[in-house]
Amino acid sequence: MSIIVQKFGGTSLADIDKIKNVANAVVREKKLGNDVIVVVSAMGHTTDNLIKLAHKISDHPSEREMDMLMSTGEQISIALLTMAIHELGYSAVSMTGAQVGILTEETFSKARIVDIKTDKLSEHIKNGEIVIVAGFQGVTKQGEITTLGRGGSDTSAVAIAAKLQVERCDIYSDVEGIYTTDPRVVPTAKKLKKISYEEMLELARVGANVLHPRSVETAKQFQVPMRLRSSFNLDDLGTLVIGVENMEIYKPVTGLACDKSQVRVVICDVPDRPGNASKLFSLLAKYELSVDMIIQSYARHVSNTNDIAFTIDKDDLAKFVSVENEISSILNPSNIHIDEDIAKVSIVGAGMIDRPGIAAQMFETLAKEGINIKMISTSEIKISCLVEKMHAKQATEALCRCFELDGSNVALVHGTLPD
Ligand code: ADP
Ligand code: ASP
Ligand code: MG
Repeated sequence: MSIIVQKFGGTSLADIDKIKNVANAVVREKKLGNDVIVVVSAMGHTTDNLIKLAHKISDHPSEREMDMLMSTGEQISIALLTMAIHELGYSAVSMTGAQVGILTEETFSKARIVDIKTDKLSEHIKNGEIVIVAGFQGVTKQGEITTLGRGGSDTSAVAIAAKLQVERCDIYSDVEGIYTTDPRVVPTAKKLKKISYEEMLELARVGANVLHPRSVETAKQFQVPMRLRSSFNLDDLGTLVIGVENMEIYKPVTGLACDKSQVRVVICDVPDRPGNASKLFSLLAKYELSVDMIIQSYARHVSNTNDIAFTIDKDDLAKFVSVENEISSILNPSNIHIDEDIAKVSIVGAGMIDRPGIAAQMFETLAKEGINIKMISTSEIKISCLVEKMHAKQATEALCRCFELDGSNVALVHGTLPD
């Protein structure tokens, strides 16, 4: 018998009726003769609400206690979904990450999975039970509960799928598949039948939060066949994420994402000496501050200094501010400037490789709209531009038109707008 991993996100489990709908989707897969492992997120906005509760008590809650708190959301979902499956007459058992043995690094809030024990999962499967696993959480060797970072249940699902070498990993959400861009922002975005791991990884990294980037990274590494499909339309197979060798590339740009969750930091007038960039980024790494776009300006001859600009997650801003003094004492900059009014608009496509002129087309489109570009970064299959937040939607729409990412059909999305 084949094992199928199904993952259901918070939007698919937002209330009791939706949990019953998910139970039906699980039983449907079981009835097809498959063994089923289900990974779930917390119901609706539970995780956001738990974070708000913590902040009512403390501005700087301990990371250990935050993980302890946030992991409870998924525990509610596994128990309720398992009960709903029992009501349909099927045997099912719920398991936390620790009960399964999802072992992670010893870091809180963004821990990476290092291994998954399969003995208990396999035992339940052998007994014909459907196993419902809490996503987004794991446990360290020392028995500490950890979480994998926001949106991390996708990664739990793909990691289990990879470890057990299952037939398929289906990620169910509130959209009918992966679209050329967020269909809630551009309702005429086109649904993709398939997308390569590489392109999906770039899209996820630049802010298409439909899949957790680390889930795509894991799927790519272990060649896990992965689908993004709708929990509200089980007959639609959604979008297949597959290896690039299976793809024929006709268009230079496959998708676009807009990320408003970053801030830009500029360290002004850093002495132009070997070792300064290393000192700066080593310090940021020491405090586990992840950096995205980095630009170092041309050294000015008069002052023999340059500016170093980079972007970090908005959620890390408080932590960054707490290390500003240390940066100043090491690099002696004239100023540290923080710019929160930014949105990163990125186009992604494997077809960009060896096709000159795509960047020029992107910049020209933004120029025609009168949109100023604050920062640019590129990879082989991605170009990102930082613009002012108020221009994010206009830039997204103009670039969708330019690279033919929109069509006439309106996308099917379910539920309420994300916060
Ligand atoms: P879940 O609760 O199922 O994990 P998420 O909110 O994490 O759901 O992800 C689904 C959302 O991702 C959609 O509602 C949609 O607004 C957003 N999204 C962003 N980019 C895309 C895209 N390219 N294709 C489809 N959905 C996208
Ligand atoms: N519940 C967690 C979150 O809201 C994990 C997830 O949804 O994947 O981030
Ligand atoms: Mg998600």
